[in-house]
Amino acid sequence: LSEENQNIISAYEWLTKLYHHLLRYTKDGKDGYRYFKERGITDETIDEFQLGFAPNIKDFTATFLEKKGFHKQLLVKVGILTLQNDDTVTDRFRGRVIYPIRNHLGKTVAFGGRTITDQGPKYLNSSESDLFHKGKILFNFDLAKKHIRKKNEVILFEGQMDVISAYQADIKNVVATMGTALTEMQAKLLRRYVDKVIICYDADYAGIEATYKAAILLQSVGCQVKVARMKDGMDPDNFIQSSGADAFRTEVVEASDTFMSFYMNYLKKDYNLSLEGDRIQYIEIVLKELAKIESPIEREHYVKELSNEYDLMMDTLIDQIQTHRQKSSPPKDKREKDRYTNNGPKQYQ
Ligand code: ATP
Ligand code: MN
Ligand code: MN
Ligand code: MN
Repeated sequence: LSEENQNIISAYEWLTKLYHHLLRYTKDGKDGYRYFKERGITDETIDEFQLGFAPNIKDFTATFLEKKGFHKQLLVKVGILTLQNDDTVTDRFRGRVIYPIRNHLGKTVAFGGRTITDQGPKYLNSSESDLFHKGKILFNFDLAKKHIRKKNEVILFEGQMDVISAYQADIKNVVATMGTALTEMQAKLLRRYVDKVIICYDADYAGIEATYKAAILLQSVGCQVKVARMKDGMDPDNFIQSSGADAFRTEVVEASDTFMSFYMNYLKKDYNLSLEGDRIQYIEIVLKELAKIESPIEREHYVKELSNEYDLMMDTLIDQIQTHRQKSSPPKDKREKDRYTNNGPKQYQ
């Protein structure tokens, strides 16, 4: 570790402790404490995640860290302080609750700060640095790692609060992307620890689009993907806080869909299924997708779903799938087909 990076880690270590202490035990942090209490977060969880509060005092942090010998310049560079036009600095996270973001070794390398007054952007993050690349880090990976490995399964969330609520409810194989699109690096990191990933993003437009992209990426690195579903507008934190951990486990996690079920639903967005023409087009598209599934048993499962939903005969759907399979079959299948129809290349007869 370079000297500069050591200093950065040390600054975050001091600040994490300070902000946490203020939140837990002092008047300066009571707004933050009240905020987490109102969101159902216990003292134990606050301690475990070292949640904190940056007091709403312009140069509180700057003064504290300068006394400890840290250089302003460095603190500006990593985004703990903000440089003003008149060359003075202010505390970037002032008045916000603080979520320390730890790397895989458990070292805090960045902060997320949430407003508690709805002023400004909802969340602020530290700047990207040598130590903190949002696309390489998954929130809570260090604590979740051993649970992920033990269960051979990870639940992937959007946000810090989703992770914290789940963790508090004793669901510990949980990480979050912190709002950005899952990157290939994060997908590969997860792949090293698990076969199965349950994507549990928010039940809104952005969440569903992000689910589709994350699922494709995770499958491409060899993960088995499941998709958890909640009622419109919910996120995992809302769900756990309003319906409880048991309901979350049984109605969301255990009831998660296969990727194909999710995808069949997802594809509906481009069609108005009350129109016959659209309905037919939609079914055609789905059949084309189903034709790509190698397992006949799996194919039949979805064909049955489709046949029930649209009152179509299974045979018709299966025929159509066969047509697609023959059209797009890879060379190996073609050779097999040629063999069966007895007009393939000589060497196969
Ligand atoms: P909360 O429950 O505290 O309102 P959330 O996690 O439900 O937050 P979302 O709007 O669902 O918030 O966003 C998911 C994640 O995206 C957040 O947890 C945060 O990490 C990140 N995020 C949200 N808004 C912003 C923003 N304005 N700038 C940067 N990151 C953001
Ligand atoms: Mn969201
Ligand atoms: Mn959310
Ligand atoms: Mn939320």
